[in-house]
Amino acid sequence: MLVPDTSPIITAPPERPLRLAIFGSTGSIGASALDIVRQFPQHFKVVALVAGSNSAKLNEQIQEFKPRLAALATPEAASRLDTSGIACEVYSGEAAAAEIAAHPDVDTVLAAIVGSAGLRSTLRAIEAGKTVALANKESLVAAGALVAKAQAISRAQLLPVDSEHSAIFQSLHGQRRCDVAELILTASGGPFLHTPKEDLCSITPAQAVKHPRWSMGAKISIDSATLVNKALELIEAHWLFAVPQSAIRVQVHPQSIVHSLVAYTDGTQMAQLSVPDMKGAIAYALRFPHGRLPEVMRPLCLSQVGKLEFFEVDNERFPAISLARQALDAGGAMPALFNIANEEAVAAFCQGQLRFDRIVPLIESVLSRLGQQSYTNLDELLAIQQRGRDAARELL
Ligand code: NAD
Ligand code: MG
Repeated sequence: MLVPDTSPIITAPPERPLRLAIFGSTGSIGASALDIVRQFPQHFKVVALVAGSNSAKLNEQIQEFKPRLAALATPEAASRLDTSGIACEVYSGEAAAAEIAAHPDVDTVLAAIVGSAGLRSTLRAIEAGKTVALANKESLVAAGALVAKAQAISRAQLLPVDSEHSAIFQSLHGQRRCDVAELILTASGGPFLHTPKEDLCSITPAQAVKHPRWSMGAKISIDSATLVNKALELIEAHWLFAVPQSAIRVQVHPQSIVHSLVAYTDGTQMAQLSVPDMKGAIAYALRFPHGRLPEVMRPLCLSQVGKLEFFEVDNERFPAISLARQALDAGGAMPALFNIANEEAVAAFCQGQLRFDRIVPLIESVLSRLGQQSYTNLDELLAIQQRGRDAARELL
């Protein structure tokens, strides 16, 4: 090689398989992660599986992966788990997930619970010094300051799973941080990229969950349709890479091939490209710093893709990103309120109680009703979140 080798110093494979706790194992990210474990049993051993209420699916996963620990969100759901013949301890509740996150048999937690339900366990994993492969962006959006504080003490490694942040992480590799000018998040634009503003009022949940490029859980699909997902990702990028919101740009890229970019001070941009498949980002995080695993995704053929387009965001039709910038600038619990109000709004939209085009205005109303609030610990943050939920429900 003529150019300097910028590969990480640690190149030897670990001596034993990485002991994985998969949180949100029955979901879209969880299923992709288990595919990777199936493909590379020499590298990964599942020691814990945690999910919400899908006991049938978790039962299948327990039979196949034989974890030592399993948990569901409620005792009622956990009572439907069958671990006969398997040395698997069953737990239930949010406290159980947090306990498993800190368990001595766990090396890495894949945090892929959806929404604020993942907050406590993600934070606990960081506090316990575990490596956290983070899909659950909502926990960083809500509690970025607490996560940063905990990580400064425990030195836990936080690795992005969100495809955009993985792309940025990969595009920063081997570069000097002082040479970075800007981060550029790409956004597919969702299913309503070209829908006129006046038609956004009549969109149904069934239309909103149909993402044109990615196959994902329901909540993130709706977040992608409102561009709230990109708003959350902007806040996520701010915390992950310690970059002010003013230095994070968003560009619409409907083909979802360029997963994000880093702009450098000399005018160069570095990007990461692949077919839209979360397995690439999941495998990169789970394997870090040991490089890439072979054949986790279909190879990309750019001549088959044909064209790659990039547009500016239409902030008038999709005001979520501007609102997230304001929330970050206001600081304190504003991003947490943004996130919790969105959760309530999406739930109401799914139940037919809120129009699609009222989701972001509802978030804005919650933010202006409650105003800037500060917190110093998780309990205070959870209390503020509860006030945010209550305000959203009242406004609904
Ligand atoms: P999903 O709806 O498919 O799965 C969610 C998982 O969380 C399920 O296993 C569910 O049982 C579990 N869960 C829900 N409530 C729970 C609770 N109270 N306690 C324990 N477990 C609970 O969602 P997903 O698409 O896999 O997304 C998961 C997370 O990853 C989200 O934060 C999402 O934003 C993020 N993410 C997803 C994708 C993707 O392609 N799906 C991409 C980037 C980031
Ligand atoms: Mg993403």
